[in-house]
This record gives sequence, C-alpha cells and structure tokens, in this order.
Amino acid sequence: MSRKKALLVIDMLNDFVKPDGALYIGEAAQRVAKEVEAIIDKARQEGMPVIYICDNHRADDAEFNMFKSHCVKGTKGAEIVEELAPQPGDYIIPKRRYSAFFGTDLDATLREMGVSELVLVGVCTNICVLYTAADARMLNYDVTVVRNAVASFSEEAHEFALKEMESTLGVKVE
Ligand code: ZN
Repeated sequence: MSRKKALLVIDMLNDFVKPDGALYIGEAAQRVAKEVEAIIDKARQEGMPVIYICDNHRADDAEFNMFKSHCVKGTKGAEIVEELAPQPGDYIIPKRRYSAFFGTDLDATLREMGVSELVLVGVCTNICVLYTAADARMLNYDVTVVRNAVASFSEEAHEFALKEMESTLGVKVE
C-alpha cells in the first residue's frame, strides 16, 4: 500500500485565534491562520484528507483548573474560524485533552483511510501540537510540523516545542 498523508488542522478555533477569544494567543495566530489557509487549499487540491482537531470541553472540564474556560461545547468560541471553514468530505474530531489521539477516534479514522503520515498545523505549538505529535510518534506515524503554520502564547515555548519534537520525537520540522 502506498503511504498516504493526512493534514491535521489543530485548534484553529475562535477562542484561540480571534482577538476576542477566551484564550487568544496573540498576533501570531493571525499570521498562522493565513499559512494554514494556504496549506489546506493545497491539501484539497492534492486530494489529501483534511482533519480538523477541535478542542471541545465540558463547561466544568478539569482542564479549567489550569487554563481559564475556553472552547466549551456548543459555544461560538469552540467553532472553527470562519476563514478556515471545513468543506464536505473533511473530518472533524472533537477532543477534551491536549492530544488529538486521547479519548478520540482519530487513530481508527486514520487507519481506515490507510494513512501513515501526518502533517500538523495549528495551535498551540507546545501544547496540543506537541502532545498530538508525541502520541502520533508513539503510534509510529511519520510526522511533519510546518514551522510557519504553528504558534503559541510564548515564542520561547514555541521554539522549545519545535526543538523537542525534532530531536526527541523524530518529527520533521519544515
Ligand atoms: Zn482546551
């Protein structure tokens, strides 16, 4: 079977990307949204599956002990930013934890499609991107992270995570 790639668009949601969002990550988010848009367009042209990974919390989610309330199921903040709106045929996978694999059907979905390589874009580099990349590598997927298409609250944490993914997880950072 030929190696098949899928694009994971991580947490490009109003609460992280829009200035009035509950956990707005700053100007970097706007820059990243542009990059992600171009990458999604290219993926669609190439027939690559586009999978949106979406933070989707309970109102009393345990994660809110660490972070203020965000991306609560059913709220505007939990919606994908409109400029990156999914199209028919795209996949949407909600999650409650940092890793897109934890407690979701992402792995089963990828296996059904015969996917063995993942391209990761979105936010936050050192949180959901990092821990999704970690689980993907534990499951033996090949992983590429696009440097200009990921961002975080802190530039330092962003750079640390890219380095960690590259040197410890064997992720290709391009
Ligand atoms: Zn969250």
